Amino acid sequence: MSETNSIRNPWTGQIDFEFEEPTSEFLTGECARLRQGQKIWMGRDIDSRISTLKAFSQSLQKHQQTIIDRLQEDTGRVRIAALEFDLTIAALERACRLGPDVLQESRPLDTGSDRISARQQKVPYGLMLNIAPWNFPLLLSLLDVFPALVAGNAAIIKPSEVTPRWVDAAQAALTEVPEMAAVLGIAVGTGVTGARLIDLVDVLSFTGSVATGRKVAETAAANFIPAYLELGGNDPAIVLKSADVDFAAEKILWSCTTASGQACQSLERVYVDAKIADAFIEKISALARDVTINYPKKENGFIGPLIFDKQADRVADQLADAVARGAKIQTGGKIIDHGGKWLEATVLTGVNHQMKVMTEETFGPVIPIRSFSSEAEAITLANDTDYGLSASVFAGTTEEGRLLARRIEAGAVSVNDASLTSRVHGIEHESFRLSGLGRSRFGAEGIARYTRTKAIFENEPDR
Ligand code: NAD
Repeated sequence: MSETNSIRNPWTGQIDFEFEEPTSEFLTGECARLRQGQKIWMGRDIDSRISTLKAFSQSLQKHQQTIIDRLQEDTGRVRIAALEFDLTIAALERACRLGPDVLQESRPLDTGSDRISARQQKVPYGLMLNIAPWNFPLLLSLLDVFPALVAGNAAIIKPSEVTPRWVDAAQAALTEVPEMAAVLGIAVGTGVTGARLIDLVDVLSFTGSVATGRKVAETAAANFIPAYLELGGNDPAIVLKSADVDFAAEKILWSCTTASGQACQSLERVYVDAKIADAFIEKISALARDVTINYPKKENGFIGPLIFDKQADRVADQLADAVARGAKIQTGGKIIDHGGKWLEATVLTGVNHQMKVMTEETFGPVIPIRSFSSEAEAITLANDTDYGLSASVFAGTTEEGRLLARRIEAGAVSVNDASLTSRVHGIEHESFRLSGLGRSRFGAEGIARYTRTKAIFENEPDR
């Protein structure tokens, strides 16, 4: 018996969508169907696979408006829904551009022997599973799937149950390209469906929380399949006294409040040299007071609702914990309940590493600021975390910023900017500590990780 799941709208707070949990039989049948398709798909040459992906891109663009409309309902945000669609198409094009070089069979390689040579071939795993979170529902459902498909795998997507409305519109685009639909499936379901699917696939990528990532990795390990984990962050920014205070304040505010702070690469903690701390706090607080929420009109305002109601509770809990331990709210600080739940840009001072807001991922538009008196102290504070996704450094010169960036324990550091990983997608980088596991999801590695390298050794016997 399948079960009905009722889904809350993040803008109205009302339940307005439901879906049936797929049965085990359905999932087994769907995976068997995709495995059949994959046998033909991997036998096609790369150009032919790319032409199918490009046809899918055209079809997605034909259905663009409906997909974006549904994404707006899923997330309660307008401008970012359109941006998310564009980033998804760009991800498809990137995989098609990089694929041919990454996947071509190597030339004969030197083995150190006159008579034996070797060639390397990239062999797809078979069926790939992608499990996605709710913060960028479309993009994070497809970002890892395009490279896996280009590499010759079939793929099944398990989108977040919190944001499932976009799926029917994307499924319509998929159905119009039968060659793509033969190797790509979407199974809307809860974590139960995610867990069941892990037993049916050959490789997986997971984007989500550390707690779920750990469970997913344990099952994948028991099944002996690779699991690429893209998890949370608690990204620090360091502002040196040589930095341009106004510029740093603008960039940090942008990073902390874009997507209402619900992006893995959002800055989450700010450390400012004590000599410029007052000026910085004054500037960023003034800027934060001008950031509007998108209520009562969804089309207006910069900050959308917190998408997931449990997430709104988590942010409120962190703010209450910080205030109880002595933090001061300079601006913002209260969850505004219009059915949907909003948090205005919130600047906190007087924070320390006993507070959850500094040690846990917040995933809200919160800017906790602490001062430091030496670079060594700034580095110690920035690296005092279980995470290691990304970070920012603001300095008077690029060289000064780069020297500090080298000492930060995170997979990507932006110098004199914030969250550049959200704008530059071709460069390989990996996550440190609890922020993830596995090779880079970007660049050539992002495709290669969905293949195994096989060597063919060739002997030239004496004739
Ligand atoms: P989550 O871990 O609650 O859920 C993620 C997905 O896992 C959902 O689809 C869910 O249904 C599924 N799931 C739940 N239990 C499962 C199980 N036992 N087996 C298999 N699948 C299961 O995460 P979330 O709240 O949706 O997403 C927010 C998190 O995602 C944040 O921590 C954020 O930092 C992280 N994130 C990371 C990146 C990155 O690139 N590193 C990007 C975006 C979001």
